[in-house]
Amino acid sequence: MKRYFYNIWETITTLMIGLGVTFGHLLRIRKGNVTLQYPEERWPQPQREIGFNLDRYNVIRSRLHVDIDDCIGCLQCSRACPVDCIKIEFVKVDKGLDIGTTSNDTKKRLLVTRFDIDMTECCFCNLCTYPCPEDCIYMTGGPNSRKHPIDYEYSTYDRSDLIFRFSNVDPDQVARLTGQNELKVGGK
Ligand code: SF4
Ligand code: SF4
Repeated sequence: MKRYFYNIWETITTLMIGLGVTFGHLLRIRKGNVTLQYPEERWPQPQREIGFNLDRYNVIRSRLHVDIDDCIGCLQCSRACPVDCIKIEFVKVDKGLDIGTTSNDTKKRLLVTRFDIDMTECCFCNLCTYPCPEDCIYMTGGPNSRKHPIDYEYSTYDRSDLIFRFSNVDPDQVARLTGQNELKVGGK
């Protein structure tokens, strides 16, 4: 009988201790010590400190970016990709037509009609960035922060939003520059 009442007493006291902790937190609630409503709310991006000069650090792993106006459609990046998540298509423009030059003064001969990177498949190996003759595909931030600020926080509700489409060519432009009704599309 004594044990019976002791168990009841112990149940009530441990319950009260637990509730005391809960209500103590409730009364001392402050912004910052509760769960963040991610992704609507996000922590500020911490200062990057890797212990040496960022400008020389060339293996930063963030979101890939393509300066599409500098791309010549050579496919070297997509061939280097081990998971095949870069899709490029292009058309040849008519001879004599000028579609401009890149920042490195390379004359462009192909119109890149599709340049998609599926970041859900990307393993951030960085291998695509090295062979690019125009330095126009790169990880954001690090030594490229002058071209594009770092971007590693791009969560979304829709998986398809993680396919980044860089080509800005519209079909009318393609028809005008190629003079082809049936376009010869190349790519990988
Ligand atoms: S970082 Fe690696 S996996 Fe991602 S696109 Fe470039 S080569 Fe492919
Ligand atoms: S390697 Fe560079 S220039 Fe060649 S297709 Fe890729 S991004 Fe464009």
